[in-house]
Amino acid sequence: MSQYRSPDYYLLDELISEDYLLIRDSVRQWVNTQLLPIIEDYAQRAEFPRQLLPNMARLGLFGPTVPEEYGGAGLDYLAYGIMMQELERGDSGIRSTASVQGSLVMYPIYAYGSEEQKRNYLPKLAGGQLMGCFGLTEPDHGSNPAGMLTNFKDDGDHVVLNGSKMWISNAPFADIAIVWAKNPDGKVQGLIVERGMEGFSTPETHNKWSLRASATGELVFDNVRVPKSHILPGVTGMRGPLSCLNQARYGIAWGALGAAMDCYDTALRYAREREQFGKPIAGFQLQQKKLAEMLTEITKGQLLVWRLATLKNEGRATPAQISMAKRNSVASALHIAREARQVLGAMGITGEYPIMRHMMNLESVVTYEGTHDIHLLITGMDITGINAFS
Ligand SMILES: Cc1cc2nc3c(=O)[nH]c(=O)nc-3n(C[C@H](O)[C@H](O)[C@H](O)COP(=O)(O)OP(=O)(O)OC[C@H]3O[C@@H](n4cnc5c(N)ncnc54)[C@H](O)[C@@H]3O)c2cc1C
Repeated sequence: MSQYRSPDYYLLDELISEDYLLIRDSVRQWVNTQLLPIIEDYAQRAEFPRQLLPNMARLGLFGPTVPEEYGGAGLDYLAYGIMMQELERGDSGIRSTASVQGSLVMYPIYAYGSEEQKRNYLPKLAGGQLMGCFGLTEPDHGSNPAGMLTNFKDDGDHVVLNGSKMWISNAPFADIAIVWAKNPDGKVQGLIVERGMEGFSTPETHNKWSLRASATGELVFDNVRVPKSHILPGVTGMRGPLSCLNQARYGIAWGALGAAMDCYDTALRYAREREQFGKPIAGFQLQQKKLAEMLTEITKGQLLVWRLATLKNEGRATPAQISMAKRNSVASALHIAREARQVLGAMGITGEYPIMRHMMNLESVVTYEGTHDIHLLITGMDITGINAFS
């Protein structure tokens, strides 16, 4: 049974109504009973636990903010954030699967899809009968996706898609892919590509030291004929993929703190129990410094995402504010994971405790959805008005 005690030093739970706490409890309970008992084993074997998908869908983890008429849970962004936080307390890779499904696959179909596309795909995606992935990054275009080479040409009632995407979460098992590619005018558009379309393959990426319980792969398009009815009609240009990333980054800002909270809680419990030189190591100032600083950073991060949720619910959260929160949460979580690992000494490197897994996972989280440095540049540009990207 999990001994986890969620840190809440500034009594933030008092600011959150009962409904949200119930949502959190249901995800927490599931993480404790279904995810934690198996996650270490799957991560060690570098395998994605697919059997979790139906229950994740039942919990409403896929597209929680999508309206109920399309199969979503119709929840707001505070609920979404809380759910991602609990999920990532379990594992960043499992949270990634939910983020991709909800923010990067369901969101673009909901925001930019035709009514027919919404009715056709969203209920099945929400129910986990269909799983999706999001193809933006390419081998030569990561932080600068606008330079993408993947493109399609007109061919009557179809388009012909060519190119490749890399580092795509869920690719090896996804039934559909939201693919961002350049149209004949050189403008970026989104397409729904289905597994089984001729010329479309999804080779798996192996030998990752990070997000090992999440499946990552490539998307390869070799003259794939995609019906024009699969193009998302509602958006053209980089605004499409960037707005999806905005949704996902918001979830990460909450989620990474979940991993940090688990590391802190584990380290605190261990430090109280582990004795050296005749007393618990929690009684030494150096260990107290680590624990006190961890909790300070967690508390600051909690306040930041809590306020961000209000702004997001009001439609006022700017992409730059979301960048700041994503960057801050992940950087804090990584630092906390490294400090917590030291508190556990040698035990910290084993799979007996979750810390090393969180730490390695966070090395991906700090890079994907915009790297640590790219988010800094977004903040820099926002406050100075000067673009330092190129
Ligand atoms: C496990 C995992 C899962 C992923 N899942 C997905 C997915 O589902 N879909 C998807 O599309 N992508 C996905 N990605 C890709 C991810 O979004 C990219 O890795 C990320 O955008 C960075 O691109 P890159 O790796 O090519 O690094 P690069 O862009 O090559 O950057 C390398 C370094 O240079 C720095 N840099 C780049 N430009 C500048 C600049 N102008 N000024 C200063 N520094 C700069 C970066 O900050 C970074 O430190 C995933 C990645 C990982 C690791």
